[in-house]
Amino acid sequence: MEVVLTHNEPINTEECPKPEKSHKRSKISRDVETDIELLYKAVPQIGKVFRIIDKIGEGTFSSVYLGEAQMHDGSRQKFALKHLIPTSHPTRIAAELQCLTLAGGQENVMGVTYCFRKEDHVVIVMPYLEHKAIVDIISSLSFEEVRLYIYNLLRALKHIHQFGIIHRDIKPNNFLYNRKTKEYALVDFGLAQGTADTQIDLLKVSRSHRGSGSPVKTQRANKSRPLPPHTHPTASTSAPLPPPVSASTSSSTISRKVIPKRRTVTGGSTARSKHSKDLSGLRKVQRPVFGERNINSCTQVSATTKATSAQTEFVKVAKAEDPANRRYLSAGRGSAALKSQGANQKPQRAVPLGVTCSCFQTDRVCNICLSRKQQIAPRAGTPGFRAPEVLTKCPNQGTAIDVWSAGVILLSLLSGRYPFFKASDDLIALSQIMTIRGSRETIQAAKAFGKSIVCSRELPRQDLRVLCETLRGHRPSPDDDDYVTPLPQNNGTVSGKPPIPDETPTHRPIEEQVKPEDTYDNTSLHTGHMETEQWDGGWGGVPDEAYDLLDRLLELNPAKRITAADALTHPLFTDLIQLT
Ligand code: ADP
Ligand code: MG
Ligand code: ZN
Repeated sequence: MEVVLTHNEPINTEECPKPEKSHKRSKISRDVETDIELLYKAVPQIGKVFRIIDKIGEGTFSSVYLGEAQMHDGSRQKFALKHLIPTSHPTRIAAELQCLTLAGGQENVMGVTYCFRKEDHVVIVMPYLEHKAIVDIISSLSFEEVRLYIYNLLRALKHIHQFGIIHRDIKPNNFLYNRKTKEYALVDFGLAQGTADTQIDLLKVSRSHRGSGSPVKTQRANKSRPLPPHTHPTASTSAPLPPPVSASTSSSTISRKVIPKRRTVTGGSTARSKHSKDLSGLRKVQRPVFGERNINSCTQVSATTKATSAQTEFVKVAKAEDPANRRYLSAGRGSAALKSQGANQKPQRAVPLGVTCSCFQTDRVCNICLSRKQQIAPRAGTPGFRAPEVLTKCPNQGTAIDVWSAGVILLSLLSGRYPFFKASDDLIALSQIMTIRGSRETIQAAKAFGKSIVCSRELPRQDLRVLCETLRGHRPSPDDDDYVTPLPQNNGTVSGKPPIPDETPTHRPIEEQVKPEDTYDNTSLHTGHMETEQWDGGWGGVPDEAYDLLDRLLELNPAKRITAADALTHPLFTDLIQLT
């Protein structure tokens, strides 16, 4: 057993009460109780320091627990304990820790307090930041809160990007926000990668370790191996530790990951006017704007074709290359190469050199292409937040991919929809992006980074303000019966008024509210109007700067995309710039 204290704040290990099974535990489920017992068994030292109260997060690669420790001064402090799956690759674990220790504890990046290891069990202990899932608060966020949230996210991104860390999984679940204390913390460096000049040694290691970048997820899922001594996860974290992020200890409310229900209507048609009508039909419905029915990996492409036929009949991504060379380049050509993440995926048979085909730049994928090996490019993350260069498997990916994800978050917050894009497959995700940003524009940007996309139908670029206001229900068509003149401009400050939780029609299932795609119109829905009597959270006066920043974050070409550092000096944040 090794216990490594990486922080000098004392914890009174003698007096910490033994974990109790009785009272506070009564509310947690049996499964959680069992998991907690298993954790105490796997890493007994944990029980000497912490009383584990609940499980607060569970992902593919970790379980996160809320723990409490008694401090020397007699106070009790809460901590988040992240138990990594024992099959995690040692280098990955070490790299995650090194990101937290070197870049964490400042600038809205979570720090690390302790690390425990016994055999292949590693537990990272962090200050606990109480927070709620974004899906639970999105409808009550004021514009000012959204502005501050994005500003603080960009601060965290600027900071980690200065260290040469690409987070690769930027999404609200990984950016904790405490509304009461206005604290923010970027967490989860489990998929992080280094830039070419990264300051994080272990990201350099994992960079070369991964060769040209095989998917990180595969790395993390590697079969169990005990940690060899030289890769002890804390051995390399000898640098002085930054102070931990201060965390709220006042309440024991525990947030849980919320898995949004799949929506059943694919929105959008190609014509702008029709599209806004469709969007207004989706107003105030707390569902993704985009989604899909079928997440079966084998039949994805054809299922997708059907499910999204209103928007894109077929999308195919190919490497832009001289057709004469095509036969030498096996991967990334057929769309099948893009749906590579299924766990049940079998290694594909390589196509012999010299075999060529005639499907290039057509909207079909031939059998030859289907059997080609995938192009190797990092592709970790969550499909709905993935940048176009990630979705198209561009091998040169940089910090700009995190900026894109921040753009998707801003789009989500401005439109009041979370998640905004819900896609289980990269092609679906790409077609959803094209529906917002335009197919021609996407194709052109992809060309710039060496990819060719074929899309059977042209999708016009949406005006971001029109899109967000329509989805928010702040832009009813003037021919609506209940058309209400939008509220006068609000100065965007909270001004002491509490945000008004949006309740009324939101919770009805979408099926009750909208007719099937293509047939529904907004006359059946009168859910979008604002209550003119009440404060609108500043949503009636969103400045143009917000949409300008959104446009720059969601720049399709990573080379032209704004950086986090530049985004912080954007006019939207003029009054905040002095604070940085
Ligand atoms: P995973 O790699 O499994 O996604 P994360 O590091 O993202 O693990 O943690 C999962 C969840 O646990 C987060 O979304 C968050 O809700 C919770 N969590 C993680 N770290 C903390 C922390 N320091 N304070 C409070 N909650 C946390
Ligand atoms: Mg996470
Ligand atoms: Zn082909």
